[in-house]
Amino acid sequence: MAISSFHPPLRTLMGPGPSDVHPRILEALGRPTLGHLDPLFVGMMDETKTLLKYAFQTSNELTLPISAPGSAGMEACFVNLLEPGDKALVCVNGVFGNRMIENVTRCGAIAIRLDFAWGTAVDPAVVEAALKEHGDVKVLAFVHAETSTGALSDAETLCGLAKQYGCLSIVDAVTSMGGVPLLVDQWQADAVYSGSQKCLSCTPGLSPVTFSPAAVAAIKARKHPVQSWFLDMNLILGYWGEGGKRAYHHTAPVNALYGLHESLVMLQEEGLENAWQRHAIMHRALAAGLESLGVEFVVAAEQRLPQLNSVYIPAGVDDAATRQYLLANHNLEIGAGLGDLAGKVWRIGLMGYSAKPENIRLLLSALAAAMQAQGYECDAQAALAAADAVLA
Ligand SMILES: *Cc1c(COP(=O)(O)O)cnc(C)c1O
Repeated sequence: MAISSFHPPLRTLMGPGPSDVHPRILEALGRPTLGHLDPLFVGMMDETKTLLKYAFQTSNELTLPISAPGSAGMEACFVNLLEPGDKALVCVNGVFGNRMIENVTRCGAIAIRLDFAWGTAVDPAVVEAALKEHGDVKVLAFVHAETSTGALSDAETLCGLAKQYGCLSIVDAVTSMGGVPLLVDQWQADAVYSGSQKCLSCTPGLSPVTFSPAAVAAIKARKHPVQSWFLDMNLILGYWGEGGKRAYHHTAPVNALYGLHESLVMLQEEGLENAWQRHAIMHRALAAGLESLGVEFVVAAEQRLPQLNSVYIPAGVDDAATRQYLLANHNLEIGAGLGDLAGKVWRIGLMGYSAKPENIRLLLSALAAAMQAQGYECDAQAALAAADAVLA
């Protein structure tokens, strides 16, 4: 039997990522492929670095996209900064903090684990006490925007603590970039990674990273070679570095980078502050609608991520049946709970191009219908009116 071409339906993606990809980005992906050392392509790479510096709000020279998804950006930060025997203090308030621990131990380094309740932010006072207790910590690592729970941590204070206690910070900004303020230089963050498919609304598969001068000095001062050949920043720089000389390291994902470039041009056009504000307003409208439906938030209001809304599944409503209904009847995807929250919550994303009024209205009316089909009583019109009142 011959297998024919794959034609996916047009879904509305309101889960934890990927988010809806803007048509301009999909169009950019289909432009003619250039050689990965073509001078025109190299020029586009330089522009991408400049645009990423804007998105990260940094002047760090070592700012570029890793040719792999956000998890590779995470790994790049850990393998470059940590050597065997180094100590890393890792804050765990969700799934991604757990992955950081995995990275630390696989580097042969020692992970000191600080747990926080899922659905809450990292508590800086607890972190400071731990930094005091363990004198010789090299790295403080935490997740700025925990996509598994919807909690936003105070990256400015945490990075400040890292500086105060003489260690380097590693910040997971996969979901924060473009959705909430991320000010790498002002906060003095040292190694920060993000992802293309969350608030940048690009296709999955690329991970912007940035390293401060202090982080670069630590990489240069290493006694052991970086354990990963592919993610060794010393080697990657030979391809992405400034100046005319570009040595082959790996074949860049040329067309995928057109997409990232386009998404960053769009972010520049909108303006970072405007993008942050749009996410905040859309979140308030969605929250007003959900609360009108009787759906409650997991995270306290002052710690909530606008771009990832974790809500409790109301009693009597079935998790899988609801998500199946939304997909089958409305081509609408929302996220399931992870880990401790599996089966108890939904994760509703408002990321990038998905953070718009049409999506909020679709979500509220479709979710109301899905829950009503299971006997749950709610008023879709009232929810839409509550959301519209915020948007007006
Ligand atoms: C999505 C995500 C990642 C992983 O990114 P991938 O592109 O899936 O590898 C890491 N950290 C956070 C906070 C994320 O939301």
